[in-house]
Amino acid sequence: MKPQLLPCPRKLRRISGASRLDEATPVATQRSAALPPEGYALTLENDRVQITAADDAGEFYARQTLRQMIETCGGACDNLEIEDAPVLAYRAFHVDCCRHFYGVDDLKKLIEAAARFKLNVFHWHLTDDQGWRLEIKRYPRLTEVGATRPDSRFGGVIEGKPHSGYFTQAQVREIVAFCAARHIEVVPEIELPGHFTAAMAAYSFLGCTGAPVEIEMTAGIFPHVLCVGNPEAREFVRQVLDEVCALFPGRYLHIGGDEAPRAAWQGCAHCRERMEQRGLPSFDALQGDYIKELAAYLKEKGKTAITWNESLKGGQLGADDVLVQRWMERKPLTKPFAQAGGRVIEADFYHYYFDYPYGMTPLKKSFSFDPFKKTGAPTSVFGVEGCLWTEFVRSFNDLCEKLFPRLLAVAERGWSGFPTRSFPAFLEAVEAQRAPLAALGIPMRPRVDWDLPPHRRLPDIIRFFKGSLTPDLLRQGLFPDSGKKKEQ
Ligand SMILES: [Zn+2]
Repeated sequence: MKPQLLPCPRKLRRISGASRLDEATPVATQRSAALPPEGYALTLENDRVQITAADDAGEFYARQTLRQMIETCGGACDNLEIEDAPVLAYRAFHVDCCRHFYGVDDLKKLIEAAARFKLNVFHWHLTDDQGWRLEIKRYPRLTEVGATRPDSRFGGVIEGKPHSGYFTQAQVREIVAFCAARHIEVVPEIELPGHFTAAMAAYSFLGCTGAPVEIEMTAGIFPHVLCVGNPEAREFVRQVLDEVCALFPGRYLHIGGDEAPRAAWQGCAHCRERMEQRGLPSFDALQGDYIKELAAYLKEKGKTAITWNESLKGGQLGADDVLVQRWMERKPLTKPFAQAGGRVIEADFYHYYFDYPYGMTPLKKSFSFDPFKKTGAPTSVFGVEGCLWTEFVRSFNDLCEKLFPRLLAVAERGWSGFPTRSFPAFLEAVEAQRAPLAALGIPMRPRVDWDLPPHRRLPDIIRFFKGSLTPDLLRQGLFPDSGKKKEQ
């Protein structure tokens, strides 16, 4: 039988004959410095498997391939030779644990699944307006106050009960170790300067007016932003980042930078003073300058900062300062950034935001996305990422069905490049993963929903937005970038 492999290996050659293949098949392994990082070669012949790997990650990925061969060939497999290595070094999946909290056990299931498809970054969204989910020892109120909201009213659905949860530092270490064993780097995200309400609910001095604020219970973009003109607030952020750096041994740290309204800064003497002192002509520049300062602080600690593409607007950030995650932009600022040598992570809203319904983002659309096209500089695409925001994701079951199978399109693209195999061939490989995923406790969306016929797409979209959008959110603009523009 022919194995179903996902992601698609870069080179696969069939050799005549077939071998018995199961858990008991002998596997010999060796290392070769001639292979690219994370790369491996695998040969199945004479009822034996030979693996040659570039490094530990390469051997791990060879074993994932072997596992898929066993799972999809059922005892007898065509003899073959595979030579394989990823196109992109950064292949990520993202989970928002703020809007709805998903705990250690759920995350472990997702991480286990992601590793099987050779994803190697877990982007962990830990702080936002509706919840602060990370224990910070120096500032205990962040979780004492910021980890619980009295109710949840996303999209007008009133849940009618408090929503609470955070990760202790011991739990974070557990997740980091669980990921490391699967060659996954954890990239925590501490959102700044916007999406900061939960922090300000705990420590009101962080805001421009110092007035108390309540943790948010609805979806949207909120005016509560960090006062970047206040030295004490900036010191607070550095102290938090110190603890975050000590907890997460990885190379990257995400510091947000999206959807930060400017109204509070406009009315703030401290922020205006900082603009004057530093010769910053706009609020966009105030943000860019602050992100640059934080990135330099993190660099001293051996970390590279990642920021959402909005931070490029002020023009302060150069190719060496940060990695930029592109999700949506009116003016194409990531393109010149990439062309100047900057590294970009592609998380395109229209293709890789999996909180939206299949009617709006069908599997084929995600699969067909060419991440190398947007920046116009293929060598500057550093990574791809599938994102799962959870305002409207109220159960782990729903979370899984939104991610799977669409996340597999991201895994295929990040590993195999663009284009790879045909869409029908990809579908076959996806379907073969249903049972192995179910065995991990991860339900996959029924196939009938992956690519709805045109007459069913619109009703699916309307159903989603009817339940998801409130008049408030509509006033801000359907897509956040449009809402923010008015405030500048
Ligand atoms: Zn201020």
